[in-house]
Amino acid sequence: MENKKKQISLQRAKELKSRIEDYIEARKHIPKGLEKKSELEERKKKILSILGGTEEDWKDYKWQLKNRVTDVETLSKIINLSQKEIEQIKEVGEKFRWAVSPYYLSLIDPDDKFDPIKLMSIPAYVELKDSVDDLDPMGEEYTNPAGSITRRYPDRLIINVTNECAMYCRHCQRRRNIGQCDEAKPRAVIQESIDYVRDNEEIRDVLITGGDPLTLPDDYLEWIISELRKIPHVDYIRIGSRTLVTMPQRITDKLCNMLKKYHPIFINTHFNHPMEITEESKEACERLANAGIPLGNQAVLLNGINNDKFVMRCLNHELLKCRVRPYYIFHAKHVKGTTHFNTSIDDGIEIMEYLRGYTSGLAIPTYIVNAPKGKGKTPILPQYLISRGKDFVMIRTWEGEVIKYENHPSVDIKKLIDDESCF
Ligand SMILES: *Cc1c(COP(=O)(O)O)cnc(C)c1O
Repeated sequence: MENKKKQISLQRAKELKSRIEDYIEARKHIPKGLEKKSELEERKKKILSILGGTEEDWKDYKWQLKNRVTDVETLSKIINLSQKEIEQIKEVGEKFRWAVSPYYLSLIDPDDKFDPIKLMSIPAYVELKDSVDDLDPMGEEYTNPAGSITRRYPDRLIINVTNECAMYCRHCQRRRNIGQCDEAKPRAVIQESIDYVRDNEEIRDVLITGGDPLTLPDDYLEWIISELRKIPHVDYIRIGSRTLVTMPQRITDKLCNMLKKYHPIFINTHFNHPMEITEESKEACERLANAGIPLGNQAVLLNGINNDKFVMRCLNHELLKCRVRPYYIFHAKHVKGTTHFNTSIDDGIEIMEYLRGYTSGLAIPTYIVNAPKGKGKTPILPQYLISRGKDFVMIRTWEGEVIKYENHPSVDIKKLIDDESCF
């Protein structure tokens, strides 16, 4: 008998092993920042010599921010571009601004025309060829009750504090705010936003976003956070920042020591590809985690970058190694100039299908479609509930087995416990 149980267990283990063989093979071919240490080191040296900076400069986020590459002449010394690409980047740049931190540029394989990091950061001519005409499909302009707030939900809201970023994502869904120059929101506008939170007691969760709030100087950021902290009904503050990915040098000890005075603080960041997880970005995540800040990731599902079940699984594993919990995968919206990155919803569902069961629950974010006109985040899942009958439901397991499962109304527990007839 014991032997029989062991036999069955061994058989099952073999089956489970076969469920992951394809991923184990595919994973070998996915570029990962943590495995490319020496290449990244070489590219860093090359970029430093082109920009005339030192190793010390590289570690200084102010240097990184000041030396964002914004002209195609410098760019063409760092990555290989054809003459046609050079002309096209110039033309796109006149309509949609671009800028990339030296650090983020070092993640690009200079010879790969379709490098995922390049696709996310360097303008492409298709941005101008977009037939979609909407720059604000979320109607954010209509959900702004005060200051620079976006309010779409009953108990929480966003305060937009700047339009500046360390790198302007080519897939940016708020590119209408990027404009042609960097502008932190003036104190008066932020004050008005904070006053709105104070006057509306149901707001218990405030998200500070942008642009990228961590492009602000520490003291301005501290003023905003400390003012919000004074409001008794604000339970916690969230910061949305991509600097962990695009300019990890920003996560200084000074910043961490400031933030940890105002707990509970949560940070959500935006990694989209395993290549973005490098020694430097990992250290930035660890520094924040060590300051007691829970970290989440909001990836965007992007055509040609991560709309692949294995790339996304790998990304989520790499994130967990940095103590970042995958939080959302956003379906890309239809924003003018970005629709070449749009995927089908089927791509997203397939990715979710090959996470549940295949990997830790910790590595499974929620896949979200943002309903148009600011009607809110809507979760999308593969079907696990096949049908609902009166006394049972039909469920489908992660391996596709359909099973009948009993389902009865909840009984009155107090009555049941008090029932004398039990004794
Ligand atoms: C995404 C978003 C939030 C936060 O949503 P969660 O699901 O709580 O993370 C809040 N307000 C606005 C306007 C948003 O777009």
